[in-house]
Amino acid sequence: MAPRGWGCWRWAAQPRARLLSPAAAPLGFRQLLSTVELVPHICVVGSGPAGFYTAQHLLKHHPQARVDIYEKQVVPFGLVRFGVAPDHPEVKNVINTFTQTAHSTRCAFRGNVTVGRDVSVSELRDAYHAVVLSYGAEDHRTLGIPGEELPGVLSARAFVGWYNGLPENHKLTPNLNCDTALILGQGNVALDVARILLTPIELLEKTDITADALRVLRQSQVKRVWIVGRRGPLQVAFTIKELREMIHLPRSQALLDPADFEGLEDLIKEAPRPRKRLTELLVQTALKPPKGEKADGKAEAPRAWGLRFLRSPLKVLPSPDGGRVAGIRLAVMKLEGSGENAQAVPTGAVEDVPCGLVWWFKSPSGVIATTMNDGFLTGQVLLQDLEEGVLPIGPKPGYSSIEPLLKNRGVQPVSFEDWEKLDAEEVAQGQAAGKPREKLVDPQQMLQLIGH
Ligand SMILES: Cc1cc2nc3c(=O)[nH]c(=O)nc-3n(C[C@H](O)[C@H](O)[C@H](O)COP(=O)(O)OP(=O)(O)OC[C@H]3O[C@@H](n4cnc5c(N)ncnc54)[C@H](O)[C@@H]3O)c2cc1C
Repeated sequence: MAPRGWGCWRWAAQPRARLLSPAAAPLGFRQLLSTVELVPHICVVGSGPAGFYTAQHLLKHHPQARVDIYEKQVVPFGLVRFGVAPDHPEVKNVINTFTQTAHSTRCAFRGNVTVGRDVSVSELRDAYHAVVLSYGAEDHRTLGIPGEELPGVLSARAFVGWYNGLPENHKLTPNLNCDTALILGQGNVALDVARILLTPIELLEKTDITADALRVLRQSQVKRVWIVGRRGPLQVAFTIKELREMIHLPRSQALLDPADFEGLEDLIKEAPRPRKRLTELLVQTALKPPKGEKADGKAEAPRAWGLRFLRSPLKVLPSPDGGRVAGIRLAVMKLEGSGENAQAVPTGAVEDVPCGLVWWFKSPSGVIATTMNDGFLTGQVLLQDLEEGVLPIGPKPGYSSIEPLLKNRGVQPVSFEDWEKLDAEEVAQGQAAGKPREKLVDPQQMLQLIGH
């Protein structure tokens, strides 16, 4: 997740200008560097893909380096556990690689420790040769329009956290007692949310979605999901795999306005291949839907999803008693410019769309693969700085100086072995329920299970 200004891919070692490089160091220092094998103690904050891939690189390319991964949650893996959709188990296979890293005798997972609260960055800097801040992107941004405080308006991130068992979203319990939901944003997360809302429950039952989410989704009245974007079909941010899943979703049909797609094929002749294929699939679905037997009963499907383009939220409309969402007012936009850089500007027209739920997704972009590249690069640059003497010279205590601090503050860190006990418990509970795992969502219960 590169372009998001989240303070990652930096390490908080001593300011570079004040450190001696080997070339600039007095002879005694240089001899020290060349004769003494320094054991670098590196601290990584955050156990998502960024943290684990950085740790992996450091351990692989430095024979002595020791890496401690601090994590505020009781359990590891960040958004791989709490973001990736439950019906995408193949994406979660990266956990196997992270587990191998965590099993290294030179790596330690320190879960249940919030950096900035339980231990400060400056304490970590004193204890380690380098501190890598890879704590992800917390999503506290709001929509910024009137009515967004109404019950029924949710951030997609919170909704995703809820169905994936993120402790802070555990109690969200959205009211799905309405026939139409509207999602603001046309990226993969929007399609994840739409898919989870529309997927037949017997398919969701086979995933690691939480028991609470299943219970609520079983009662869901949602039959139609609009996925709304500020720009046009040539600017959607979702990818073809996720679109295909929507098109083939059992018992759901696509609601696409043919007028939105006419003439697009001519415009994408020179477009990059992924955009071209994605647009071709959209055009085919909108303009050439299968007929007869091939239609697979789609026209009679009880549920539907649709894309609405060139619409920007202006106001969430309340129900007559003001108690919840009844709709949303959208500004009708037009495009200035073309292709990926086209800008949406208001036309002055507005449109009201009735709906009982609104989600928005305003969050970082990027996928696990881009995070992997960034993590490896971070590890590489850090090792280079180590070699060039940019990082502090001389031994550092590492975790042995942090452990007493945490103890004094009543913090009980969770080890990777502890996590493996919880993992085994989740798998066992899942087997009993006929699912791959039954996610534990209550941190207190988890701590009790591992005897804390
Ligand atoms: C809803 C959603 C679905 C996604 N689905 C996919 C997908 O299907 N495929 C794909 O490739 N990518 C997907 N992504 C993107 C992918 O999850 C991210 O690119 C990736 O997780 C980013 O890794 P990260 O380590 O930077 O951040 P995160 O995964 O967010 O990890 C950061 C970690 O830091 C921890 N942390 C935060 N603050 C502190 C603190 N103060 N002290 C200690 N620890 C802290 C957090 O608890 C977390 O564990 C999805 C993203 C979202 C939001």
